[in-house]
Amino acid sequence: MGSDPGGGYSCGVSLECTTSDLMLALVNTRPSDNGRVERFDDEAGLLRWLTEAGISVDEPVTGADVVAARELRDAFATIFRAHCGCADAPVEAAEGYLRSIAGRYPLVLRITVDGVRVKTSQTGLPGAFGTVLAAAADLSARGIWSRLKLCKNPSCYAGFFDKTKNQSGQFCSSGCGAQVSMRAYRSRIKTA
Ligand SMILES: [Zn+2]
Repeated sequence: MGSDPGGGYSCGVSLECTTSDLMLALVNTRPSDNGRVERFDDEAGLLRWLTEAGISVDEPVTGADVVAARELRDAFATIFRAHCGCADAPVEAAEGYLRSIAGRYPLVLRITVDGVRVKTSQTGLPGAFGTVLAAAADLSARGIWSRLKLCKNPSCYAGFFDKTKNQSGQFCSSGCGAQVSMRAYRSRIKTA
């Protein structure tokens, strides 16, 4: 396991992927005003995303699974919003939800000379959700959990990895930062 953020890491289900990329790809399945579409709108959408993420699920996905995927995603999106200092993010509900589902998707340890990996102990869709939880555990163990944030631009809310030295990043791109300061500038002019 590399020490660089998002370094090489086997997601445990099929292809190599990075844990931070996986978490960001998950929260970025949410729709946004600036053009992202809902990826988890039906069973096919969820399956397509899982394939893109390198997670193979060898069993049919149901409508209830799609709802569960959206709930899991939204809980992580709330946590990442809180990492960006959004006081109104419903953190307690998200933490409570994640606590309740952690028991449903148990993880196991794989201990080797190289280190300790957390992996899902299940297959199918529970295994896919477990892989997401394992990715979160990996990022936290590496001390970079709080660097996963949600862009503060209300028309974007994209997940991003804050690479700034002092973890002060608030926007996914300079474009989003500029858009928000322009909006604030215009509203100041209006009130003045
Ligand atoms: Zn943004």
